[in-house]
Amino acid sequence: MANRIYQALPTTIFTVMSGLAQERGAINLGQGFPDEPGPEAVRRQAADAVLSGNNQYPPMRGIAELRQAAARHYQRFQGLGFDWRTEVTVTSGATEALAAAFLALIEPGDEVVLFQPVYDSYLPMVRRAGGAPRLVRLEPPDFRLDPARLQAAFSDRTRLVVLNNPLNPAATVAPEADLALLAELCVRHDVIAVCDEVWEQVVFAPRRHLPLMGFPGMRERTVKIGSAGKMFALTGWKVGFLCAAPPLTEVLAKAHQFLTFTTPPNLQAAVAWGLDNSADWFATMPAALAQSRDLLSCALRREGFRVLESHGTYFLNVDLAASGVAENDMAFCLRAVNEAGVAAIPVSAFYEQAPVTNVVRLCFAKRDETLEEGARRLAKARELSLRASRAGLNT
Ligand code: PMP
Ligand code: GLN
Repeated sequence: MANRIYQALPTTIFTVMSGLAQERGAINLGQGFPDEPGPEAVRRQAADAVLSGNNQYPPMRGIAELRQAAARHYQRFQGLGFDWRTEVTVTSGATEALAAAFLALIEPGDEVVLFQPVYDSYLPMVRRAGGAPRLVRLEPPDFRLDPARLQAAFSDRTRLVVLNNPLNPAATVAPEADLALLAELCVRHDVIAVCDEVWEQVVFAPRRHLPLMGFPGMRERTVKIGSAGKMFALTGWKVGFLCAAPPLTEVLAKAHQFLTFTTPPNLQAAVAWGLDNSADWFATMPAALAQSRDLLSCALRREGFRVLESHGTYFLNVDLAASGVAENDMAFCLRAVNEAGVAAIPVSAFYEQAPVTNVVRLCFAKRDETLEEGARRLAKARELSLRASRAGLNT
């Protein structure tokens, strides 16, 4: 018999929806990936490195050039000073970094505080590592931390808290007050924070990303996770970062060494080059995405949808109930992909307990024509749903 946690797991919603989109030839506003190819200069560096660089095992913790470039990047953008030798580990994407953190830091029976909506890889990996999840619910439209709920989730058995900021799928950027409260609780309960900050560069003005690690008492007790795939809009690249104080890094690297050991050296070299040569990109990329967000948001509003605010990530959310749709999010997304030719993600997939069932996530990292046509097709799905409601067909 297989492991019961994996046995019971469904295939991720991203794979399910992308599969349906492909089958139906639908526009895919579900899984989060841009339809532009990503910065050419960075891709060219990777191609050159494949042809003329090292293609044998790179060092286990990552090539020195990339660890140094990541340390410089975080100093420049977030004022965090990392010693690249003892505090930076390169992983095969943030997904591996998360798995390494959970495996390395959780002892069976430890309590782990997580927030719902919860990114889909966290709970299975926390449980597989023996952790007991304590879920704190965040509610639309703001998804703010509620001090009473948060305090109630901490106990003397809490070992870790897992924060995703900016938050996928909510598209919110945590305000300073929420981070200060969380930091205070971590210090009070002697808890380590695993911070999934893969969207740190995809934040729209005037919002700013603040790393939890920068708050009082957090420098030594935070594991900061980043993703070059998100930084450079090359989501298939799977180059991630684990940044933490030396004693944490020691143990994180031991988990990493038996998950993937290392990450393709040519991609590492290209990311190292990109981090040092992309000042323009880090300014223009979020600005261009903010325009795409506004375009999709306006098109959807025009069609009668109620759109929630988006301050970061590739996503915006639509409130179905407030848009007059009586169907739940999963039923609406199935209708949209099957009958209207557009794929989206039901936000209930990010809730384990008492899901929010009327919010749908849409990816706007697409060309203008795609977004316009996507909005039209979503309007068609809404129309079909309203028609089915009137005919009494919706459950
Ligand atoms: N965490 C979050 C919140 C994400 O949205 C994603 C991917 N979209 C990941 C982790 C995974 O990142 P990577 O592709 O670098 O593994
Ligand atoms: N994180 C991406 C999203 O939210 C999907 C990544 C994946 O497919 N595993 O859309």
